[in-house]
Amino acid sequence: MLFLEKTRRQGVAAAILLIYIIPIVLGLFFTPPAIKSDETSQCLSAGQAVAAAEAMEADQGYQPAEISVLSAGDEPMPDNNSFGVPKNPPAGPEQKLIALTFDDGPGKYTESLLDALRERDVKVSFFVIGERIEKYPGILKRMADDGHEIGNHTMTHPYGIGISPKRMRRELKQCSRLIKKHTDQTPRLMRFPYGAMDKLSRREAKEQGLVSILWSVDTEDYRLKNVKKIIKKAYQPQPYGVQDGAIVLMHDIHKASVKAAVVIIDRLIGEGYRIVTVSEMFEARGKKLKPGKSYSSAAKE
Ligand SMILES: [Zn+2]
Repeated sequence: MLFLEKTRRQGVAAAILLIYIIPIVLGLFFTPPAIKSDETSQCLSAGQAVAAAEAMEADQGYQPAEISVLSAGDEPMPDNNSFGVPKNPPAGPEQKLIALTFDDGPGKYTESLLDALRERDVKVSFFVIGERIEKYPGILKRMADDGHEIGNHTMTHPYGIGISPKRMRRELKQCSRLIKKHTDQTPRLMRFPYGAMDKLSRREAKEQGLVSILWSVDTEDYRLKNVKKIIKKAYQPQPYGVQDGAIVLMHDIHKASVKAAVVIIDRLIGEGYRIVTVSEMFEARGKKLKPGKSYSSAAKE
């Protein structure tokens, strides 16, 4: 009996040891690697990173990236409950102004952005791609119906340096034609994909009466794809963060970008900004936009 009792005790002790020690040992050997920041992207300049990220999208035919794992900082998508939603302040003297711009759409997240903008009485500028308009003509129409500004972002999003004038002419013409077809508006503003342009590309824009709009705040949302990081980037130290007269670059084809945009909008309104379209901001500042010229900010000098 004693022998049996001893054996049983040893068995229990062994079981306890196994239960407690095995996970510790496993933990030591299978600790998941810490998530490293994207070093490759950090080595790129902002412009190169834009080019790389957008080129990747181009390869995928501009399919918006699905985000399978939401980061801890993600906010819920804007819903239809407008209770307590901050409203864009009306235009006034000495008003701080800022223009939010959204490229590469329309996309499947654009409508939730449009809902949030409508609730807040905010108008923005969209730089749309012709190929995306063909996929989402109804969303483009709604952008216009809701009073947003629509700019030309070419037909297929080509790199604008070294491109033949004939190709750039076609890229701009086809996109403008589609915008006109679905919204009955002729775009006045355009943005070269990746902000890349040369003398010949600019000349084509000028000949079509298009003003080139760049940006002063690059949220790098296409790369970060994380709500908190995008907001932090928008609010980076000056001169690259949000400020009076800034033009902010974002992309409405990414879920995290749309979520971050809504948080940024509410924060800007709370800080006393009036959010306006690019054209409205330059007009309010008495700055005339000229076709073929490029503008990246309407900050007071
Ligand atoms: Zn783009």
